[in-house]
Amino acid sequence: MSAKLFACKTKIVCTIGPASDSLPMLEEMLRAGMNIARLNFSHGDFTVHGDVIVRIREASARTGLPVAIMADLPGPKIRIGSFAEEPINLAIGDRFTLTTEDIIGNREIVSVSLPQLPQAVKAGDILFINDGLVQIEAEEIEGCRVHGQVLVGGSLRSKKGLNLPGIDLGISAFTEHDRACMKFALDHGVDAISQSFVNRAEDIVAVREAAEEMGYSPFIIAKLERSSALDAIDEILQAASGVMVARGDLGVEVPIEEIAMLQKNITARANYFGKPVITATQMLESMTHNRRPTRAEATDVANAILDGTDCVMLSEESAMGDYPLDAVQMLVKIARASENSRHGHETGQRAKRRIAGSFIKELDFIAAGINSILGQASGIGAILSPTNRGEMARQITKLRLPIWVLAISPSEKTCRELLFSYGVFPIYELSHPEDWTELGKRYVRELELPGNSILQTEGPSDDNPERHHKIELIYTGRR
Ligand code: ATP
Ligand code: MG
Ligand code: MG
Repeated sequence: MSAKLFACKTKIVCTIGPASDSLPMLEEMLRAGMNIARLNFSHGDFTVHGDVIVRIREASARTGLPVAIMADLPGPKIRIGSFAEEPINLAIGDRFTLTTEDIIGNREIVSVSLPQLPQAVKAGDILFINDGLVQIEAEEIEGCRVHGQVLVGGSLRSKKGLNLPGIDLGISAFTEHDRACMKFALDHGVDAISQSFVNRAEDIVAVREAAEEMGYSPFIIAKLERSSALDAIDEILQAASGVMVARGDLGVEVPIEEIAMLQKNITARANYFGKPVITATQMLESMTHNRRPTRAEATDVANAILDGTDCVMLSEESAMGDYPLDAVQMLVKIARASENSRHGHETGQRAKRRIAGSFIKELDFIAAGINSILGQASGIGAILSPTNRGEMARQITKLRLPIWVLAISPSEKTCRELLFSYGVFPIYELSHPEDWTELGKRYVRELELPGNSILQTEGPSDDNPERHHKIELIYTGRR
């Protein structure tokens, strides 16, 4: 057991890149509050990722702090081909053609890495290149060419991304390249896989089945960045272990003014199912080159937490920024302040939505029980939740209690997976103790809990599936 509680209840995901992949920096980021290290397989190569995985585990061993490693798979990102001379400049009204022929482009035509483009696109559709900085309206399809007119002009370079918002390409999110990345990542011991451009639940099933064929059962995060995924959100949430609001590509795939509401809805649905949700992209973007964030960024992080996100994520800030450590410390500060004020702020409506329709039918009883105990007794330090796969702890934490959920598990895998859940402090105990009261007493002391009484949940288990849910005060100690 590590000696101290985490710095905040919100979990912190850091994308690891050149700015953060040294052993000393990884140790510092862990000490500052990083819970999950994310490796983006769209960047870097296998050799580097392999070395970084070893260093992350080393940093965890040296600091005694747990960490989960998440490998992010690129998915079917469509890209344009190359230009003979670049950049090319496109002005409003220019004619421009995209083709599936393998040619070198110029300011009239460029190739595209998607063979089915002419079938997928119809006149009137808009093609977004380079995160939407350049937009082309398709006018006429002729064989393997899509002729169009420039709606939003700008300069273009080779290999930029192409988004076709709202067009179902019928291609699965999980590509052959993803399979190779996943095999490498799992063979090197990563805990979680995040899949880009998920459209439907089957995309997640494909990832899970491929992992199982390889002999693994990783935690699988669906990156929500397509509008089609939003229509299938409940099915995706049921198939996945968790979701990410991937605001980078999402901001191109849907009108940017809709992102705020989409984020709120996704977060509420994820809470409802008791699945962890990560809010990602541009959280502290300006800290890539500045020591302090903007007011708007600090507010964005706080609002995501108050809305119920489990994790907040750093991208550029930690991968290639000038202040990766400051960015982690800033997230922790904002998280602590927001978490402390949530209980005055949280409306009954919001709390109810989280509990409704739970996996544990009795959860509203348990919630009422916990709340009445918390209201009557003072000095409750934590709630102890014995768990095999982590389900009970994930459900309890939906209540967004002011105290920690100490999830005691005999599975190291479960402990790492619980690093994705708000307010859960996983504790690896090989066997369940004879005397829970003694254990509670030990935790009060060793974890320096804010109160010296312990609540414990009990529910059905593999050995005792009939057991009822119950919540009791097991230790009322004095310091
Ligand atoms: P995604 O859509 O998956 O978020 P991204 O290109 O936005 O892809 P991020 O993971 O958000 O990538 O990282 C932000 C930026 O940090 C990248 O665009 C890249 O420039 C840099 N970066 C991230 N990981 C690495 C790495 N392993 N090596 C080098 N640069 C990296
Ligand atoms: Mg990104
Ligand atoms: Mg993306």
